[in-house]
Amino acid sequence: MSTITQDDFIQSIRNALQYISYYHPIDFVTAMHEAYKQEASPAARDAIAQILINSRLCAEGHRPICQDTGIVTVFLDIGMQVRWDTRLDVEAMVNEAVRLAYRDADNPLRASIVADPAGARRNTGDNTPAVIHMSTVAGDRVSVTVAAKGGGSENKAKFTVLNPSDDLADWVVSQVPGMGAGWCPPGILGIGVGGTAEKAMLLAKRALMAPVDIHALQQRGPASRAEELRLEIYRRVNQSGIGAQGLGGLTTVLDVKLLDYPTHAASQPVAIVPNCAATRHIHFELDGSGPVYPEPPPLSAWPQLHWDSSGSRHVDLDTLTREAVAEWQPGETLLLSGRLLTGRDAAHKRIVDSLDSGTALPEGLDFRNRFIYYVGPVDPVDGEAVGPAGPTTATRMDKFTDALLEKTGLIGMIGKAERGPAAIDSIRRHGAVYLIATGGAAYLVARAVRSARVLAYPELGMEAVYEFVVADMPVTVAVDARGASVHQSGPEEWRRRIAGIAVTTD
Ligand code: SF4
Repeated sequence: MSTITQDDFIQSIRNALQYISYYHPIDFVTAMHEAYKQEASPAARDAIAQILINSRLCAEGHRPICQDTGIVTVFLDIGMQVRWDTRLDVEAMVNEAVRLAYRDADNPLRASIVADPAGARRNTGDNTPAVIHMSTVAGDRVSVTVAAKGGGSENKAKFTVLNPSDDLADWVVSQVPGMGAGWCPPGILGIGVGGTAEKAMLLAKRALMAPVDIHALQQRGPASRAEELRLEIYRRVNQSGIGAQGLGGLTTVLDVKLLDYPTHAASQPVAIVPNCAATRHIHFELDGSGPVYPEPPPLSAWPQLHWDSSGSRHVDLDTLTREAVAEWQPGETLLLSGRLLTGRDAAHKRIVDSLDSGTALPEGLDFRNRFIYYVGPVDPVDGEAVGPAGPTTATRMDKFTDALLEKTGLIGMIGKAERGPAAIDSIRRHGAVYLIATGGAAYLVARAVRSARVLAYPELGMEAVYEFVVADMPVTVAVDARGASVHQSGPEEWRRRIAGIAVTTD
């Protein structure tokens, strides 16, 4: 029998959440570095370099890997012999740990959770509640797995029920291109097979909590049908050519994890949950001896990479014209300096509602010849203009794009992932452009922000419209003024090249 106290339980989960906000799992760093060394696509290699440099900076600076510090997911396996010495129930203790971790004064994390999700979508302010899964098991310990899951990758989860005779690998591989780049590849696919609908989803999520070990599996060979499927899906997804950030390249997934469970004879439920460039999870056990403080990993576990920006075009955002923008080529890297505006989902809705109703935009909100950056930054700490401030998924802003380009004089947008056909057509008709920053490199991007001030909608918190002054902010031209998209041309080119050359992903 062991006794777990309230303070030990809360402190341990709080420690874990802070830890995973700035330390990638080392197995993930190692796998990403391997992908970097193998990558033959310059654009994808550049994106992976940014992810790795960002990862090291976060480990050194104890600041979040990504501006989306995630929805907290906790798996608790509670030993039947455990005794609790607490006033709060287990869910309340987990949420108290989340509250304390996300409001940490030295490393505040972004509050991303909204209550009333089909209505007012009011931010709860402290990132609570967590999503908690509990089971009781044999023993006298509490086994805890803590994850912070980004919205961009969570949004790409898939589920189906196949016929028993259908090919599971075919279905998984067919789903990945449609997931686009909003899940910030390269990452990991968690696959759940069997059980019931909700069981398959849970298996897929839990599968992501295991270490990256596909290379060890390749070397020793599969010992089960589940391992055969992991290898097959890993090989076939990487042959798709999607690549890092959807730019086209050799590595789309660093690993494929799979858990299964017995199911009904009539069913084959299958779920996919992807994990992104900001993969964050940790596992520990409580045995009644006190709180857990995870051991910091050695910085030598991170590669020392230098990001080469020598071939990039320098752009002055304060003197930009539509004619200058028209010269930029798809895939070209730029270093932006000057003023840009920010805005994401909630701000876009307000702006377009104002444009539709003919009411004036807030004073000072002038988009003429400006760029808008889709971002919801983390709050800054001492010495920072802004906390980690990487791009959010642009696809969600597609339905607002034509109105902004048509009615405000906006010249371009910065985000992550592909644009839909209507948004690309609007970009082409208005001679505008769409640029991408690297998803999962938020702390690196934030270093380019010299100052930040709220321009409009302060009540939206991290979704307010800011004016950023940036210096040498690295971006890539994703849709040029003629409507050519690297998210179409890049994967197509690399799919063909992979089919024609010997690759080492198997
Ligand atoms: S890396 Fe991409 S998907 Fe992951 S949390 Fe960050 S923005 Fe979201």
